[in-house]
Amino acid sequence: MGGMSNSPMMQQYLDAKAACPDSLLLFRMGDFYELFFDDAKTAATVLGLTLTSRDKGENAVPMAGFPHHQLENYLAKLIAAGLRGAICDQVEDPRQAKGIVRREVTRIVSRGTLTDDALLDPRASNYLAALVCDGGDKRGERAAVGLAWVELSTGRFFASQFAAERLADELARIAPVECLVSDAATTAAPTLDGRMTVTCRPAWAFAHRQARDALHKHFGTTTLEGFGFADDDTAAVRAAGAVLDYLAETQRTSLGHLDRLTKYRVGSTLEIDEATRRSLEISRTLRDGRREGSLLAVLDRTATAAGSRLLGETIANPLTDIAAIDARLDAVAELVAQPVLAGELREQLRQIHDIERLLARVTTGRATPRDLSGVARTLRVLPVLKAKLTARSSALLNRIESSIDLCPELRAKLETALEDDCPLVSNDGGFIRPGYSAELDALRELTSGGKQWIAKYQADEAARSGIVSLKVGFNSVFGYYLEITNTHRDKVPQHYIRKQTVKNAERYITPELKEYEQRVLTADERSKSLEQQLFVELRDLVGQQSKCLRTTADALAKVDVLAGFSELARQRGYCRPTMVTEPVLRIIEGRHPVLDALVADGSFVPNDVTAGPDAGLVLLITGPNMAGKSTYIRQAALITLMAQLGSFVPAREATIGIADRIFARVGASDELSRGQSTFMVEMTETARILNTATERSLVILDEIGRGTSTYDGVSLAWSVVEHLHQRIGCRTLFATHYHELTQLETTLPRIRNLNVAVREWQDDLVFLHQIVAGAADKSYGIHVARLAGVPRTVLERAKQILSQLEQDHLDARGRPKWAPGNGGRSGDLQLSLFAEPEHPLLSQIRELDLDRLTPLEALALLGQWQRELDGGESSRRESHKAGDAAGRAARELAAR
Ligand code: ADP
Repeated sequence: MGGMSNSPMMQQYLDAKAACPDSLLLFRMGDFYELFFDDAKTAATVLGLTLTSRDKGENAVPMAGFPHHQLENYLAKLIAAGLRGAICDQVEDPRQAKGIVRREVTRIVSRGTLTDDALLDPRASNYLAALVCDGGDKRGERAAVGLAWVELSTGRFFASQFAAERLADELARIAPVECLVSDAATTAAPTLDGRMTVTCRPAWAFAHRQARDALHKHFGTTTLEGFGFADDDTAAVRAAGAVLDYLAETQRTSLGHLDRLTKYRVGSTLEIDEATRRSLEISRTLRDGRREGSLLAVLDRTATAAGSRLLGETIANPLTDIAAIDARLDAVAELVAQPVLAGELREQLRQIHDIERLLARVTTGRATPRDLSGVARTLRVLPVLKAKLTARSSALLNRIESSIDLCPELRAKLETALEDDCPLVSNDGGFIRPGYSAELDALRELTSGGKQWIAKYQADEAARSGIVSLKVGFNSVFGYYLEITNTHRDKVPQHYIRKQTVKNAERYITPELKEYEQRVLTADERSKSLEQQLFVELRDLVGQQSKCLRTTADALAKVDVLAGFSELARQRGYCRPTMVTEPVLRIIEGRHPVLDALVADGSFVPNDVTAGPDAGLVLLITGPNMAGKSTYIRQAALITLMAQLGSFVPAREATIGIADRIFARVGASDELSRGQSTFMVEMTETARILNTATERSLVILDEIGRGTSTYDGVSLAWSVVEHLHQRIGCRTLFATHYHELTQLETTLPRIRNLNVAVREWQDDLVFLHQIVAGAADKSYGIHVARLAGVPRTVLERAKQILSQLEQDHLDARGRPKWAPGNGGRSGDLQLSLFAEPEHPLLSQIRELDLDRLTPLEALALLGQWQRELDGGESSRRESHKAGDAAGRAARELAAR
C-alpha cells in the first residue's frame, strides 16, 4: 500500500475519522487494527504501542497498531484512560471486494457504552448518564436539572428531574461512569472523584422536540405518559433523548432491549446525600475508594453477578415504606429459619448465567453461541429453583416465584440445538448438536467422512489397475491426486490425466476424484454457513422471549439478594429489626457491621444505643481519641440503613424508627485528604443538615467544629447541638472531644451524655470500647501527656490553666454562662452564628495598622470608604467588593 498519504484507503480513513473526531479510530487492515496521525501518538503513550510510520520522508504518517484478536485488551486500556474508541471494520469479504475493501465504523466504545463481558465488572452497574440544566427562568423559578441514566449492558433506562441542589447527591447515588453534557452548557461540567468521564455533546442533542420525537419513535408511542412522564417533565425528557441520541450514534445496532423508560421519583427512598454516602463508606471506602472494606462488600453474600448488582442498587436506594421493608424482612426471616432451603437456593443460583447482560448482547447482535448455551443452562436450573420457592409463607417469595417463567419451549429448542460447550465465535461452527438439522449432519459427514472415502477409492483403484503401491495424496496446488511410481508406468489406466512429474513417480487426477474434492471442500464452508444461519435463528428466538427472560432474571436476582441477607444473618448472628414509624432508635448489643466482620470473632465490643423523644434525642459521646466514638455513632447509622434495606442487623435486638434521611458528617481535620478549605466544606455540609433535617432524620456528627480554633470550634459545636435539639428535634449522635459540650446536659432536657469507658492499667490507658452513661473524665488529655513522659511541672501548670479556663465560662452553679436562659449572655453565641455576616468594612478597619498610618492616608481612606458606602449599600455583594478594595488599599498603605 505505497503512497498511503494520498491513496484511496487513506481517503477512506480520513472520512471515517472525520465522522468521529472525538474518538481514537481503530482502522482494520488485514489482521491488524491501525491508528494514524495524532491517534497513533496517543495510542503510543496510552496503550504502550510502538510508534512507526507509513511512507517515508515528507509524507511520513505516524502509525501504531495491534493484532485484531487483542482488540478487547486494548479497548480496556483505552477506556481506563478515559478515551473512546471508534472501531472501523472491514464490512465485506476482502476476497470478494472489487478494488478497495469497504470499511465502516461499526461502533464507538466508551466507558458508558460497554457491553463486552470482558470489559465490564460483572458485580457493578455501569451507567451512562446525560445531564440537562434548565437554568431557572426570569420569573425566579428555581433551576431544574434533568438526569437520565441507562445501562446499555442490561437495558435499564431511567429519567428524573429535580432541583439543581440535589445534583451531587443524585450523581453520588447513581454513580454513572460517563456523563453527557451539552457543549453549550454554562455550568461547569460536574466531576465525581474523577470516576466519571464527562463527554460533551452538541446542544441540539438535548433539544426538547428532538428528544421527545426520538423517544416516541424508539418506544413506538405517541406520548410518554404511559411511562409516567407529564408535560412539564421537559428536563427529564431532554436528558433521556440525549442518551438515546448518543447510543444511536455510537452503537449502530438495535437498541431493542431498552424497552421502557422508568421515571425515578426523587425522594421516594431514604435520602442519603453525597457527603454521608462517602463518610459512612456505604459502597466505597473513604481512603482509597475501593469496594472492599465498604458496607456493600460486607453485605454482599450473593451467588450471582446480577444479584450483586441488584444489591448495589438496593443499598443506594433504601426504603422508607414500612410495609415494603417488612415484606423483605419476612422473606429473609423465612430463609434464616430454613437454612437448608436457603443453601439449596444459593447452590442453584450459582449455576445460572447473567441473563440480563446476555440478553443485551442478543438484541444488539453481539451474542455468541456460548451466550445462547448460557440461556439453556439457566433454563435447565429453573424448574428446581422455582419448586423450592413454591408455597412459601412470605408473600414476597411467592410473588418472586410467580414471576419466574420456565420458558419450556425455548429450553427444549436450545437443548436439542446446542452442544454443552459452545465456542465464543459463531462463524467457525462446531456448536450445533448432531440430529438437530439433517442437512447439517449430511454436510458434516461429507467433511469428516473424507478419510474413509479416500481409503476406499485408493483400495478400489489399486485393485482395478493392479498397481498395489498406488496412493491418493493431496497438495494445495493440485488438490487430490493419484501417485504411481515409474515402475508401474505401463499399467496406468487410459482415463487417468497426468498432472505432475516428481522424482521416480507421476501424479494423475480422475474426474471422479475431482468431483469428490469439490464436494468436500465446499461442504466444510457450507456447513459453517449453515451453522451460522441456525445460530442467528436461535438468537432471534431468544430475543423474542427477552421480556419474560428479563422478568425471570429480575426475580432470580431478588431471590439472590434475599438469600444473601439470610446467609449473612445466620453466619454473623444478626437479628431481625422491629420497624416502627415513631422516630426512635433502640439497639441492644449492636455491632459495627464492617469492623465486626474484620476483627477476630467475638473481639468486637457490642454497645447499646437508645434515642428517641422520650429517651434522649441527642446523644453526646465524649472520650479520648481512639476510644471508639466514631465507630459507635457510625454503627447506629449503618444499622438503621441496613434495616431499611430489609436486612437483618448486627445486634441482639433492635427497634428502628424509619428515618427519612440519614446525615453523617466528619469534622474537617479527620478528612484532610480532600483538599479545599476543609473547614469551609465542613461548615457548608453542616449548614445543609441544619437546613434540611426533619424530626424523622438521623444525624451523625463526628468531631464537628474541629477544623477551627478551639473556642470557635466549641461554640459552633455547641450551637449546632442546640439547634438540632431545639428546632429540629431529630435523633442525633454527636461524638466530640470538646469536653465543654457535656455541660449542655444540664440545660437541655433531651440531651444524654455518654462516654467511652477507659481503664488505667499498669501505667497504660486501656480502651474498653464500651459506651457508658455520663460525661468523660475530662483530664484525659493531660493524663495522656503524663503517660507520654511530659515533665510533672508542665502537667501541674496545665491543670492550673484548665481550671482557670473553666472558671471563666462557668457560673457559680457550674453551668456555662452562655447557656440559654442563663442571664444576659443568653443566645449571644447563637446570634453570632445565625445573624447576618458583619459588614466587611469593619474587619478592614480592625486590620489597619494605625501606628504606620499617616493622617493624610487616613483621610484618603475615609473618603474612599464613604464613597463606596454611598454607592454600595443597595447591593450587599457590591459592598463586599468595595470592602475588599478598601482593605487592600489600607493594607498596601500600611505595608509601606
Ligand atoms: P474515636 O472516634 O474515639 O477516635 P474510633 O471509633 O475511630 O475512635 O475507634 C478507634 C479504634 O478502636 C477502631 O479503629 C477500632 O479498631 C477500635 N474499636 C472501636 N470500637 C470498638 C469496639 N466496639 N470493639 C472493638 N474495637 C473497637
